Amino acid sequence: MPARGEESENAEEEGIQFKLLTNPVRILANEAGWVRAMECQRMELGEPDASGRRRPIAVAGSEFELPVDIVVIAVGNGANPLVASTTNDLETNKWGYVVADEKTGQTSRPGVFAGGDIVTGAATVILAMGAGKRAAAAIHQYLK
Ligand SMILES: Cc1cc2nc3c(=O)[nH]c(=O)nc-3n(C[C@H](O)[C@H](O)[C@H](O)COP(=O)(O)OP(=O)(O)OC[C@H]3O[C@@H](n4cnc5c(N)ncnc54)[C@H](O)[C@@H]3O)c2cc1C
Repeated sequence: MPARGEESENAEEEGIQFKLLTNPVRILANEAGWVRAMECQRMELGEPDASGRRRPIAVAGSEFELPVDIVVIAVGNGANPLVASTTNDLETNKWGYVVADEKTGQTSRPGVFAGGDIVTGAATVILAMGAGKRAAAAIHQYLK
């Protein structure tokens, strides 16, 4: 769980319970199709891999059900596939991110500008702010 120490502490202060060495296996639904539980499996740390980090290994027969009523998958970052499938003439790359001119943010669709994570993939606030400023200037020129 890569995180700054203070982030872990803040999360615990807000009531988050970390289930360390626990791997979600599948989401279980009730008869109506609503989520009711998560099947999890206990893990243990094995030998270090090439990077020196000890790899988690599943403990056979350790599966258990964790009752839940909402599941939020909060790992990773990706483009909403609807962006590419619902917007005509908006060019996206193989990861679904919007293709935009680096200097202006202009996309393949006239009058549509983009910047930030939806162009670069997961990046930083400062890069998104820079893209926003450049796009604002380009939009100004475009409208004039
Ligand atoms: C857990 C986490 C920690 C991070 N920590 C840092 C950090 O410490 N420092 C750092 O620099 N960066 C950090 N980042 C990255 C940073 O948050 C992003 O790079 C930045 O927010 C990108 O800005 P953005 O404006 O491109 O996109 P976003 O901030 O994602 O803004 C996009 C907005 O569009 C809205 N939206 C989406 N679809 C629609 C729609 N159809 N209609 C209307 N609105 C829509 C979304 O709700 C969202 O508000 C972190 C990211 C995550 C997930």
